[in-house]
Amino acid sequence: MTAPLAFIDLAAQRDRVAAEIDAAIAVVLDHGKFIMGPEVAQLEAELGEFTGAAHTITCASGTDALVLALLAHGVGPGDAVVVPTFTFASTAEAVALLGATPVFADNEPDGFNVDPASVEAALVVAADADLRPVGIIPVDLFGLPADYPAIDAIATEHGLWVVADAAQSLGGATAEGRVGSLADVSTTSFFPAKPLGCYGDGGAVFCQDAAFDGVLRSLRVHGQGSDKYDNVRIGINGRLDTLQAAILLVKLGIFADEIERRQTVARRYEELLEDVVVTPTAPEGSGSAWAQYTIRVADRDRVAAGLRDRGIPTAVYYPRPLHRQTAYAAFPAAPSMASSEQAADEVLSLPMHPYLAAADQERIAAAVRELAPRLVG
Ligand SMILES: *Cc1c(COP(=O)(O)O)cnc(C)c1O
Repeated sequence: MTAPLAFIDLAAQRDRVAAEIDAAIAVVLDHGKFIMGPEVAQLEAELGEFTGAAHTITCASGTDALVLALLAHGVGPGDAVVVPTFTFASTAEAVALLGATPVFADNEPDGFNVDPASVEAALVVAADADLRPVGIIPVDLFGLPADYPAIDAIATEHGLWVVADAAQSLGGATAEGRVGSLADVSTTSFFPAKPLGCYGDGGAVFCQDAAFDGVLRSLRVHGQGSDKYDNVRIGINGRLDTLQAAILLVKLGIFADEIERRQTVARRYEELLEDVVVTPTAPEGSGSAWAQYTIRVADRDRVAAGLRDRGIPTAVYYPRPLHRQTAYAAFPAAPSMASSEQAADEVLSLPMHPYLAAADQERIAAAVRELAPRLVG
């Protein structure tokens, strides 16, 4: 029996940067500025350079990043925000937490990102429910940027804002630019398993407008004004820890190389598997950050169990679209949710990280080829 593989091998990354990270942590322990220390501003500057975003505001998690962006847009009761149903809960949770109504849209039949046609359908549903549509939150699922040109056209036509949930796609790009600069406002997460992860929770908001940046910085610290004890709006405690910023600065130094390695891993999977399962596709000119490598396969649960028996871990993102989850089932949804329901039955994410060896990928692919029934889709 060969040794079990890692789904995401954070230990291999740790081996590469351990000395630098330990030194960076020691510096923070010595200067003692644990809240808003100098590493936080340095990270914001370097993330701005990396993404091309005009303004970068770090925060405590990817969920807080969404909450901050929605607070800055003034979202509240009576407002409708269109979100994909095939995503992690945070995307809709942030909307509902603020008393607004998430309205679910289906994903593209051949992809995992939100279908612009379904966004239009969801806007009709929102209007019929006497809600006031205010914005759209596309998600760059598994690392692939959503169709921003199509979504921006819908937003412009209806007078809506767009907040890109880029929690999984930092490091990705399209012909228009890098993730972080593809929408007026984008949010991301530094959860350890995301493409750029820290050693705890963390996140960031990217925006292009200076006034919006100022509002976000105020909201991040309880809505403070120029006088710290005159709070001018209702905010949250949403800061990123200095220690996490120090860790992220080291990891950002190897991030471009890691994204290239993920692309190599993804290309290799495609060569090994494209004739037996549905492999993920990207539009011409788009680059995924490859947070996940997600195939579609018939009889998914049997394939996953067979892989587990062979020491190969997999994950199902996501077994249930949000509109079918207990807390979200009562919110409005576009009339057809067929693509997300099919995706939930077929998706299987294979081990994916920058340090996955070719020999291990060959072993994974051989097992998938042995277990997979005929091509679906
Ligand atoms: C991980 C994730 C989030 C939330 O990020 P946290 O840092 O865990 O709060 C939001 N949206 C999507 C699509 C995610 O994958």
